[in-house]
Amino acid sequence: MTNLELQKRKEKAIARGQGNLNPIFIDHAKNAELWDVEGKRYIDFGAGIAVVNTGHVNNRITKSATDQLGKFVHAGFMITPYEAGVELAEKLNELVPIEDAKTMIVSTGAEAVENAIKIAKAYTKRSGVIAFHGGFHGRTHMGLGLTGKISPYKKGFGPFPNNIFHVPFPIPYYNITIEDSFRAMKNLFTSTISPDDVAAIILEPVQGEGGFNIAPPEFLSKLRELCTAHGILLICDEIQTGFARTGTFFATEQYGIEPDLMTLAKGLAGGFPLSAVVGKREIMDASENLGGTFAGSPVACAAALEVIDIIKSENLCDRANEIGKIVTQRLLDLQNEHSDVIGNVRNKGAMIAVEFVKNGDPDTPNPELAKAIVKKASENGLIILMCGIRGNAIRILTPLTIDNQILDEGLRILEESIVGL
Ligand code: PLP
Repeated sequence: MTNLELQKRKEKAIARGQGNLNPIFIDHAKNAELWDVEGKRYIDFGAGIAVVNTGHVNNRITKSATDQLGKFVHAGFMITPYEAGVELAEKLNELVPIEDAKTMIVSTGAEAVENAIKIAKAYTKRSGVIAFHGGFHGRTHMGLGLTGKISPYKKGFGPFPNNIFHVPFPIPYYNITIEDSFRAMKNLFTSTISPDDVAAIILEPVQGEGGFNIAPPEFLSKLRELCTAHGILLICDEIQTGFARTGTFFATEQYGIEPDLMTLAKGLAGGFPLSAVVGKREIMDASENLGGTFAGSPVACAAALEVIDIIKSENLCDRANEIGKIVTQRLLDLQNEHSDVIGNVRNKGAMIAVEFVKNGDPDTPNPELAKAIVKKASENGLIILMCGIRGNAIRILTPLTIDNQILDEGLRILEESIVGL
């Protein structure tokens, strides 16, 4: 079957909403390379949206998951639990920057977010939630309700759960300041909801879908202070930033604050669907009813245990910083030569984004060019993704196990795709 034949079958069989930019049907993959059904090779600068941080078909993960497959595939963690789930929770409790933590395991990022909000409501007995413009928290109704204005996720799906309030996220290159954010919260507290009725503030330390907008350190410490003063829980959504992606196991570690709850998914199990909420013991224990049929698949838990070992033994946090330096420098060099189209370049570890603009004006986004580059890159053998509230950014999320030679090859394809348009 060719890509085009499969695309035709897909369009007939799969709902339009599950669209794809390019007709590339994957046959197999290894580390940072993918091959389509026609044998064409691609370098992967998307890692399945920050999931395969430990590389495609990592032999250690394959072995760990296969061993578990041979024992049992599903039992139901709420019916007959298993050691892999317990051991994973023990490891996560130690890894997160939260003292005396407990964990609950589910399957997807959105489910982790749902549960974090449920737990926050159960603990505080309050109903309000504050989230940020440009934030993304998943595609369930609560996830979308928390998500800020990033086209096109929310379109046509409202109304969303009530008592969710959005305030600005500080983004220096868009001239949005920490003061703007706190002023909006202050207005909210005087006009709409008392801080004593707010259960949680949820944020991504680095906004993912919103464009890799990095929270200024002072912002997180001020939020922590505000939350502590009013008994509001601070939830760090580390679904995209987690598992070594930003140069530490979790981005929050770099901010020196202790969140009350954290949501984890994506890179957690190296490609198997698995997610977790980790938080302070007494908060996590506030609810007596959490779970789901597939919550904490034993195969995914076995894979996750191996992922954690790999990140440690292969120093993938350091590697994320190295990748960040190499890629950012190349993009800045390119920006020097092509400042008419290349705007802001930013990164935290191996979460790297570059914006495209018109006439060198940072305030005139060029989403059409970003989209064309992604398309051109895929024709040239590079998978890369877009992001950003203005729709004009390209994000680079390589597997952290990528070799320098493949990284260089991918960057050359990206440079050619930008310059060639
Ligand atoms: N939260 C963040 C920060 C995300 O980046 C995502 C997915 O992109 C989610 C939540 C939702 O995760 P999932 O797609 O696994 O439901």
